[in-house]
Amino acid sequence: MKKLLFISLALCCLQACKERNSENAKDKFINDLMSKMTLDEKLGQLNLPDWGSVTTGTAQSKNITNKIKQGHVGALLNIKGLSNVREAQRIAVEESRMKIPLMFGMDVIHGYETAFPIPLALSCTWDLESIKQSAQIAAKEASANGICWTFSPMVDIARDPRWGRIAEGAGEDPYLGGEIAKAMVEGYQGVGEKAFSTNSQIMACVKHYALYGAAEAGRDYNTTDMSRIRMFNEYMHPYQAAVEAGVGSVMTSFNEVDGVPATANRWLMTDILRNQWGFKGFVVTDYTAINEMVAHGIGDLQTVSALALKAGVDMDMVGEGLLTTLKKSLDEGKVTKAEIDEACRRVLEAKYKLGLFQNPYKYCDPERPAKDIYTPENLAFARKIASESFVLLKNDKDILPLNRKGTIAVIGPLANTRSNLVGTWSVDARMDAPKTLVEGLQEVAGNQVKITYSKGSNLTADSTLENNGTMFGRSLGRDNRTEEALRNEALRIASQADVIVAALGESSEFTGEASSRSDIGIPDVQERLLKELLKTGKPVVLVLFNGRPLTITWESENVPAILDVWFGGSETARAIGDVLFGDVNPGGKLTTSFPRNVGQIPIYYNHKNTGRPLDKGKWFSKFRSNYLDVVNDPLYPFGYGLSYTTFSYSEIKLSAKELTDKGELTAEVTVTNTGKRDGTEVVQLYIRDLVGSVTRPVKELKGFERIFLKAGESKTVQFKITPEMLKFYNYDLKYAYEPGDFAVMIGGDSEQVKSATFALK
Ligand code: BGC
Repeated sequence: MKKLLFISLALCCLQACKERNSENAKDKFINDLMSKMTLDEKLGQLNLPDWGSVTTGTAQSKNITNKIKQGHVGALLNIKGLSNVREAQRIAVEESRMKIPLMFGMDVIHGYETAFPIPLALSCTWDLESIKQSAQIAAKEASANGICWTFSPMVDIARDPRWGRIAEGAGEDPYLGGEIAKAMVEGYQGVGEKAFSTNSQIMACVKHYALYGAAEAGRDYNTTDMSRIRMFNEYMHPYQAAVEAGVGSVMTSFNEVDGVPATANRWLMTDILRNQWGFKGFVVTDYTAINEMVAHGIGDLQTVSALALKAGVDMDMVGEGLLTTLKKSLDEGKVTKAEIDEACRRVLEAKYKLGLFQNPYKYCDPERPAKDIYTPENLAFARKIASESFVLLKNDKDILPLNRKGTIAVIGPLANTRSNLVGTWSVDARMDAPKTLVEGLQEVAGNQVKITYSKGSNLTADSTLENNGTMFGRSLGRDNRTEEALRNEALRIASQADVIVAALGESSEFTGEASSRSDIGIPDVQERLLKELLKTGKPVVLVLFNGRPLTITWESENVPAILDVWFGGSETARAIGDVLFGDVNPGGKLTTSFPRNVGQIPIYYNHKNTGRPLDKGKWFSKFRSNYLDVVNDPLYPFGYGLSYTTFSYSEIKLSAKELTDKGELTAEVTVTNTGKRDGTEVVQLYIRDLVGSVTRPVKELKGFERIFLKAGESKTVQFKITPEMLKFYNYDLKYAYEPGDFAVMIGGDSEQVKSATFALK
């Protein structure tokens, strides 16, 4: 035993020595380099211009090549094509005085050329391994094209579906968001010592720090304001989880936090991020976020640039405030040389970690693009993960899956598009390559099925709205016929079919950046079309495209089957076919609540009880917390999703009724597949702290397991519960657990749960 202990101690020491040596080597290298750099060259490292191959903002960078030669560029974003990257790198390492390599950043958000489902959809898989693999593949493809840095994962908790960027995150729950953040960081970068060890691993950037998803009224870039207790209990965890997973960089957010724009918020970037969480990487601003602080009203460009540096910003995306004003601020004593050095050092450290000093062309292997990008394997994976992300919202009388026979009329403005299927934030995706839904269904259905098509309606009646919602090459080809003419054609086609598949909802650019909506229903013309289709009396399956939860209350009451397919990426169409024809049994579960109407927003499962809660199942009760005109419950709750089979849950068995501060207990349920098909279920564990020193949510997700059960099969699922899992931020923002009673709930969604109680002693 002693010998074993000794050996493991020795191994630990060896490891620590190795790490210290490599830290020392890095410090020595960077000290040496920095001792030779001029102030201008140091400021150059903080500069991140936009090359312009793709558009992700309005500002444009100028004279980039010259700036690289002068040593005024630290990294580039939005540069596409390996030869462009290689040439920019060549200029940096051959024609600039210090020969410091550049980093190349890109929004590789849900895949690269092979697009995966939008992040909100990915989160509905609850499949951490597959999510990680999606990030690995995205990194492999992007790095084959010279990209070594991605502005992902986006981990902003969002409880307001009016906010278009809800599409880019993992929904409303901080625990699930944290698990996904970790999986993505590990997928992009690799884990621990193995991170960046190959040229397929790239640096991640967790964003947008912080609270960007809490924009008032769901309007993008709007003010956020919340108590610190809410901030830490409900919003901060995913950012911290990414830091703990070793994320190399953090992006600031556009919004303010506590009245100070995040990009100048020292408390956020230094006190919390570095001092409390131990973040060791570098901080980059969001696109022109420093300059925007002038409009926020906290000073002119020189002032806000100095504030950003002093707060902990290391790199300035596009705005060039740091590049152009810090010298003056240094002369005037408004910033220190040490502050500039610190920022420069952090950027150089990132390059060192990536291995760019050893080989500036590490990510420039000309053989790789053809070998690694848009490969059949990547597409096969895209198809699999897309089908996992779909959520079956309704399936009356088992309309689905469809039989492979007869005629299916595919109707709707989303039925015949390729570019929209890849989803928002897919700036590098091959937009013209995906099959349309009509083509994909025909391929998967085989030749026993006749697929017919009619557009049926435009996206919206208002052409300006349609234009604004189909930017960046995602046009749906507006049809100039009248609404009636379009609809009549569709009804004629539908009347000759056995089943109608209505491909309706949002265009991909109805969500994403600057795509907030105040009405989040299915757009007017489409809804009118749907009503007419239902009047034919034929079975109607609504295949719903959306980047946010929609208010589909009428649809949920009147349409027999609804499959939410979000935007599934390059293989959306085939994956929909796989699910509609039953080759894949849907198992996705919602990660955001679906409101019944806009008035219910914000609506989220982990809310507080209030002092006057409404009794479960009731609509209205005077002097209780409720509405006169709508129930409190969401249309579809967090965690919800149907399957072609059914699952039953046993009562919860607890290994003990009491938990001590150093102990643990297990909560166990047996889940049975009670239907006739094999299927996947996401078993969810929720806990409620029944009495706290501050009020606690009615339930919080604390664990989950995705299980596959054959028809008739049962499986026992065990969750370990430890005091650590019961911790929360108290009034003094101390992260601690409190003795007392707890409810444990397990089920297939956040509402349908079995319950038991235990006490923490
Ligand atoms: C977005 C970021 C993105 C950046 C670079 C900004 O407008 O808010 O999410 O990473 O542009 O494209």
